[in-house]
Amino acid sequence: MAHTCRNCKRTFATELELDLHRDTCSEGQLFCDNCGERFTERSATTDGWHYRCPTDDCDGEGIGEDIHQVANARVAKQ
Ligand SMILES: [Zn+2]
Ligand SMILES: [Zn+2]
Repeated sequence: MAHTCRNCKRTFATELELDLHRDTCSEGQLFCDNCGERFTERSATTDGWHYRCPTDDCDGEGIGEDIHQVANARVAKQ
């Protein structure tokens, strides 16, 4: 079974390859602290100002609050 990156729709033969790809995927630049998911900027905001986590059962919102840039989150965790 193929594993598909839900951000850029590339497919991978194994889950490990997909995991590795997700770390570098240029389409998943935002990260939700609340649910731990990554997603694209355009899936989280319509006006570039109000951000909301696109995950169905998550109420994370606000850039710099629940939602962060992946690059910034990495720096914060080190
Ligand atoms: Zn991807
Ligand atoms: Zn979330």
